[in-house]
Amino acid sequence: MWLLLVEDETRLATSLKMGLEEEGYVVDIASDGMEGEAMAMGSAYDALIVDWRLPQQDGKTVVEHVRAAGQNVPILMLTALDDVEHRVAGLDAGADDYLPKPFKFEELLARLRALLRRPPLNTQQDVIQVGGLELHTKQRLATLQGDKLELRTKEYALLEDFARHPNEIISRTVMAERVWGDAFYVTDNVIDVTISGLRHKLAEAMESHPDGEPLRIETVRGVGYRLVTE
Ligand code: CA
Repeated sequence: MWLLLVEDETRLATSLKMGLEEEGYVVDIASDGMEGEAMAMGSAYDALIVDWRLPQQDGKTVVEHVRAAGQNVPILMLTALDDVEHRVAGLDAGADDYLPKPFKFEELLARLRALLRRPPLNTQQDVIQVGGLELHTKQRLATLQGDKLELRTKEYALLEDFARHPNEIISRTVMAERVWGDAFYVTDNVIDVTISGLRHKLAEAMESHPDGEPLRIETVRGVGYRLVTE
């Protein structure tokens, strides 16, 4: 697994690189936002670890540019700014997960493993249909009434999990396990933010097709969520 670490604090970057290499990862370091963006665009990394505060341009901008270029590489953001606003802004920019500083190295490893986990190939159906929703699981592409949904990595994964279990309640713990790969480190907040993004995109797509079959994500208070078709 080949990682790009975009971090300007030399000591932290060096120690993370050493730790990650001991775990078998191959790690490149970029020490500012411009260099990080150029390296991310130029190579097929398996994952990016991007600090928020960087010289030249901040980590959020790097993530936005990488996503705007159409890359779905998994991205973990690091930041000393542990508040909900930044967390949401980081996820909105296109990061898949978020780790507040200071963190334990084991936690970084756990998040990384979760991000890098891929669904097993050839074990599941290629196209899933629920109402007007169609998922092409190999391409990780979702359409609603034929219109392509622009989804972030985890939004797609969540929608696919819902579509495999229509009208069934899925608890947050199961969601964390199946979509993020780790029930322990995923906060309810990250799940809620992802759900709300997905809801918004589904609602938007349905507005353009008022005659299409209704589809919505329902909150089952105290239990979880379900994809409801009528
Ligand atoms: Ca920094």
